[in-house]
Amino acid sequence: MHKINPIEDYRFIIGDETLHRIHQKARKIYGKKVLHINATYIGGGVAEILNSLVPLMNDVGVNAGWRIVHGSPDFFNTTKHIHNGLQGENIHFEDHFKELYISTNSNFSRYTHIHHDCVIIHDPQPLPLIHFFRKQQPWVWRCHVDLSSPHEELWNFLQGYILKYDKVILSHEKYKHKSLPVDYKIIYPAIDPLSPKNMMMPREQALNTLQESDIPMDLPLMTQISRFDKWKDPEGVLEVYKLVRKEVPCRLVLCGNMAADDPEGWKIFDSLKEKAADLIASGEVLLITRDSMLLVSALQQLSTVILQKSIREGFGLTVTEALWKGTPVIGSNTGGIPLQIIDGETGFLVDPADYQGCAKRVVEIIKNPEMAQKFSETGKELVRKNFLITRLLADYLDLVSEMIGTPS
Ligand code: UDP
Repeated sequence: MHKINPIEDYRFIIGDETLHRIHQKARKIYGKKVLHINATYIGGGVAEILNSLVPLMNDVGVNAGWRIVHGSPDFFNTTKHIHNGLQGENIHFEDHFKELYISTNSNFSRYTHIHHDCVIIHDPQPLPLIHFFRKQQPWVWRCHVDLSSPHEELWNFLQGYILKYDKVILSHEKYKHKSLPVDYKIIYPAIDPLSPKNMMMPREQALNTLQESDIPMDLPLMTQISRFDKWKDPEGVLEVYKLVRKEVPCRLVLCGNMAADDPEGWKIFDSLKEKAADLIASGEVLLITRDSMLLVSALQQLSTVILQKSIREGFGLTVTEALWKGTPVIGSNTGGIPLQIIDGETGFLVDPADYQGCAKRVVEIIKNPEMAQKFSETGKELVRKNFLITRLLADYLDLVSEMIGTPS
């Protein structure tokens, strides 16, 4: 169960001035009704953010609600195709997919009443909803996916819906499609420093948490925490690990929960299991699907190095989380990762195709605790300034003020 923390609890982390500024921003939209809609309340970055953001918006005086679009497994299969297509994969977007996508949204609209002052739709799953309502308020499409080079036909189809929105929010300037005709704004995602996942736990508790999941600590841990998704490149991580273990003894942990809207996960998991069979049998590689925030937290806290070797990435909250815990991160030079990892200062950036280069960096960190310590301090400070949920809250307050005509 997600604990709801009052805004005051963030004071000791962000300081008085920042906290007061948030209250000032909220004053302009007290009592305004804002509705967030997305596809899942658990698993993945969007759900994480909404779990903290929605209560905080209420806490500062906005009437913020949150609804989940109701879909069948086939619907989520379809939206997974859409997600992949938006990220550039050559998908076959057949008519029956389109029909299911649209009819699910149409059905949802039949029993979903929207009388809010502003509607915020997250990601592609509920995007077509706008078509089924008589618009009485501004609608914002908050897209967490990279739109820079989507499947053309799919883009053309989705654009028909996107056009109806009043504003599109992207996580990075680079994600904008070249022909996006709608006003857009960049808002970087953020983590909640008070969520169970991001609070530092006593070392003893963290060690016990790993023990409960049968993760021994006799070797340094090289860990990637990500859905089993090809864009996260778990197979690449395995290849990097094979190079690293030639230089320095360590253990690889690949930890990934299975999101309700991610039916491809098990296929990738099974294929990894086959490819790493020997290393799994010897206990050097651990594949974990247990969905536990505490386990994620303990891994982020106690790993010697965290990898995020994504081929494509939205923002990469796993990077933010690990940096906040002071653990060195090696991440691909893609998506939002370079916003968080300043190469050689807060971690190392690598080319996702360069396994040798990545392995070299892992070995450097494992062998050089002083360097790891330096990364730990600078990384944490970078997150405190830029990527905490309180900054996101301030951005959303500005957004809603702007959309309903009371700009700050
Ligand atoms: N996550 C988790 N358990 C896992 C794997 C991931 O709780 O086994 C969380 C992770 O800590 C992060 C989110 O899911 O908060 C993933 O967000 P990110 O932006 O890294 O990637 P996304 O899944 O949204 O592409």
